[in-house]
Amino acid sequence: MKQTSIVPLASIDCTYSEEISDSSMENSIASMQQVAAEQLVCLNVEVAHVQAVKTKNTQDGSALKKQELIVRDPTGFIKLILWEDYVDCLQQHKTYHLQNVRVKVSKDEKYINTPKSEKLSFDEVEKFERDLVPVENDMVSLTMATVHGKIVEVMNVSKTVVCISCFKKVTPKTDKEGNCESCKVMQFLSSCPRHWYLRVLVQTHENKKLRLSMFNQCVQNFVLLLGNENCDLKDISEDDLILYILESEKSFVIDYETDHNKIISIKAESSV
Ligand SMILES: [Zn+2]
Repeated sequence: MKQTSIVPLASIDCTYSEEISDSSMENSIASMQQVAAEQLVCLNVEVAHVQAVKTKNTQDGSALKKQELIVRDPTGFIKLILWEDYVDCLQQHKTYHLQNVRVKVSKDEKYINTPKSEKLSFDEVEKFERDLVPVENDMVSLTMATVHGKIVEVMNVSKTVVCISCFKKVTPKTDKEGNCESCKVMQFLSSCPRHWYLRVLVQTHENKKLRLSMFNQCVQNFVLLLGNENCDLKDISEDDLILYILESEKSFVIDYETDHNKIISIKAESSV
């Protein structure tokens, strides 16, 4: 378990927004409604709900780790998004003093986010004495589930040639060149990245069967778990990949979205 320090509330030094310090109002979740977007704030919150870490692919093809939480205090609850190094830094049911969270607005929803350049700091503090606001069920996405099991069948595997710049599909025009479907740029097929897609049948330890799909970033992580040095996605065929998967006979812990049957994360069972 992570060591955290208990900071007495009275000694917290915070940069309040002028608006809030003027009114000498305590920084509460309810008061976030009056805070402008992009402002940095500090808050005391209890972590009500923690989602699994997801991977978000960016335009330039890199992958960012992202985790959504619901945090609350006696005045309300709000979504908190943790990025990259901050994922898994906060634990459910614990109360923290957060310093430097950024207020964001999207589609009329206000939420808070880890800052890009400033450092987010978090210290565990004592629990609220006042009652906390109950979190409405629809705030909590109940669309994720975790299973433990083996991959017993590979139902579909495909390797798509994608555009160097926008990662959309490239359609071959000749043996050597192809057009990007999106940005139309003609490019050498041999220099284009490949994106993998897998659909597998998972048999859980309770003998339940589930059909789940895995997109490129997830496939890239998954093959490393197979522990087979011949299994290099750069130059193996679809058939070889199927063989390596079935031969491994390993058990995995899989988080997936129940509405799309899409795998969010996959780990070797022993390492959990
Ligand atoms: Zn393109």
